[in-house]
Amino acid sequence: MRPWNFSAGPSALPLEVLQQAAAEMTDWHGCGMSVMEMSHRGKQFTQIRDEAVADLRELLAIPDDYEVLFMQGGATAENAIVPMNLIGRGGAHKADYILSGIWSSKSYKEAQRYGDVSIAATSGEAADIDGVRQEPWTWFPATTEWRLRSDAAYLHLCSNETIGGVEFPSWPDMAALGAPGVPLVVDASSHFLSRAIDFSKAALVYAGAQKNAGPAGVTVVIVRKDLIGHALPVCPSAFDYVNVAASGSMFNTPPTYAIYIAGLVFKWLKKQGGVAAIEAANIAKAQALYDYLDGSGFYLNRIHAGSRSRMNIPFFLHDESLNAEFLAQADKSGLMQLKGHKSVGGMRASIYNAVPLQAVQALVSFMQEFERRYG
Ligand SMILES: *Cc1c(COP(=O)(O)O)cnc(C)c1O
Repeated sequence: MRPWNFSAGPSALPLEVLQQAAAEMTDWHGCGMSVMEMSHRGKQFTQIRDEAVADLRELLAIPDDYEVLFMQGGATAENAIVPMNLIGRGGAHKADYILSGIWSSKSYKEAQRYGDVSIAATSGEAADIDGVRQEPWTWFPATTEWRLRSDAAYLHLCSNETIGGVEFPSWPDMAALGAPGVPLVVDASSHFLSRAIDFSKAALVYAGAQKNAGPAGVTVVIVRKDLIGHALPVCPSAFDYVNVAASGSMFNTPPTYAIYIAGLVFKWLKKQGGVAAIEAANIAKAQALYDYLDGSGFYLNRIHAGSRSRMNIPFFLHDESLNAEFLAQADKSGLMQLKGHKSVGGMRASIYNAVPLQAVQALVSFMQEFERRYG
């Protein structure tokens, strides 16, 4: 059996997908070529691209007035590509950002190069939340505290902070927050396809594939069509959504193999019963790990209860001197890549779609045994 992989990204892919890719590696569907060797404009790859788009549209019920784009440069590049495409719309050159962790902070910093960018809310300083002292980046700022500008070109948030382990449970209705015309832009990289998306709320959603949707190299951008066509003159042609949309994500040579693997992941997800089924599985997985952490005096998770991520679960040993021993033994027990991000320390279990409940149960058993021996 392969070990269980808890990497935050690039992360576990479904074994069936890897096996299918291996079987098709040298000869895709009898055409005599690997997907890597095909012209991106040929009929075989065009079919692969079209099926990936259609399957993704079906999985997420993406409305017709949204484009699905495959881009490059990761979510990091979108941190610049989004303002370059959107901030000029309406003429005010303003954008608002919610800061809930390291990734949204990076998005904010990058956007400052392109206009008047303001922090609408932040959890970057320790505060008392519901009577509990919370450390920075351990909760998601409540919508009641957001200071929104109604003439902003968009509001940006990161709906799942991969490093901190906070998730925004349900996306805000901008009209209800008094900013009805302001499009909501979401970096959903690390929980993309783990749950449904309400496109009546989100105008643009982007995600680097390597967390939950495929290999590194392709970024998925789902964008409402009326937001396309407002790029700043400085925007590189290859990053102007107009060009990417008009060319079917082939303005330049796309990351063909990454799109192919992401397409296989989409088909695998459909076989699992789609996003609703995988969401139910994800809830059960996260519950199993949080329940154990909460019941233990040996481990702890510092995230505010209402903001806990289903995907990325940081946890700590009360005795941090045991960290190295914990990680070494976990590795030997077939539980890989549990080391926490260097800025947070401790451990982090990323339990994306391709990580089954069985893996979480194996982790919990290991943690119980470790607690029994060292607690
Ligand atoms: C990983 C990650 C990024 C950065 O992705 P790259 O592909 O390295 O650019 C940005 N945002 C979130 C939420 C992430 O998890």
